Amino acid sequence: MSFEFICLGTGCPVATPERMGPAHLVIADDTKILIDCGSGVTQRLVQAGTRGADLDALIVTHYHSDHVIDFWQLIVSSWHQGRTKPWRVIATAPAITHMQKQIESFGDEIKLRIAHEHRPSTEGLRVMFEELGEHTLTFPHLTITPFAVDHRPVTPAFGLIFESSGRKLVFSGDTAPCDTLSHAARDADLLVQEVFVDREMQPIPGVRSADTVASVMAYHTTPAQAAALATGSRVRALMLTHIVPPAADRSALLREIRVGYAGPAIIGEDLMRFDVVNRMIRAGQTILAL
Ligand SMILES: [Zn+2]
Ligand SMILES: [Zn+2]
Repeated sequence: MSFEFICLGTGCPVATPERMGPAHLVIADDTKILIDCGSGVTQRLVQAGTRGADLDALIVTHYHSDHVIDFWQLIVSSWHQGRTKPWRVIATAPAITHMQKQIESFGDEIKLRIAHEHRPSTEGLRVMFEELGEHTLTFPHLTITPFAVDHRPVTPAFGLIFESSGRKLVFSGDTAPCDTLSHAARDADLLVQEVFVDREMQPIPGVRSADTVASVMAYHTTPAQAAALATGSRVRALMLTHIVPPAADRSALLREIRVGYAGPAIIGEDLMRFDVVNRMIRAGQTILAL
């Protein structure tokens, strides 16, 4: 049995070549689930050795542009890769409304493509939406339990518990620290946690005010809060993602985490893979066993 977590995009709306927009992939044996479809997701999928054509489902955790911006690119590029099965897209209601608008906005263009390109099937362009809620989703070799998190004023927003091969991986989604996340993360083999590095997010005249920083921080999680959460929930390993700012100093960030959490702490990088069964991380040619 394999159970693997792959960072495709560990960034946020701030553009940087190193960290694409939010997107992560879970593979449990043959089941492949994509979490969010941020900027650059289709390119990173190919770099990770898979394709949109092969995905079993897309889950969109909440409606923020950085999590849905490449939705239509995912659909069209997967069709061009030969996808022949409809999409199962499980998302919050506001995210579904938005994605339906993406589909509509390219409606005329896709009709022209279908008529002109004569591809063998149009099934890969069909999208079946399901509303994401607090009910368990079952796939072969994988169970996913969404739980509500606190990303107000963006509601609803969800974190996700993935269980396979007797292991538990918890994905925080975008959230401030909250009881539901602490509860979900309890004894997890891996907590994948968003982080807002407050130390590096000072006001910049003309870019962001002190009020901006406070407002953004209020719906995210600081390094100190992430460390406290990981310790309180006794997680066996902590991986940081959705890193704001994406160019945050890695060593300084890890030192901050180390103050409040003594377990293995990993700063997620695009294309980093975590083998949940064997507790091994691969990044480029480097492999580390925890
Ligand atoms: Zn986000
Ligand atoms: Zn968000």
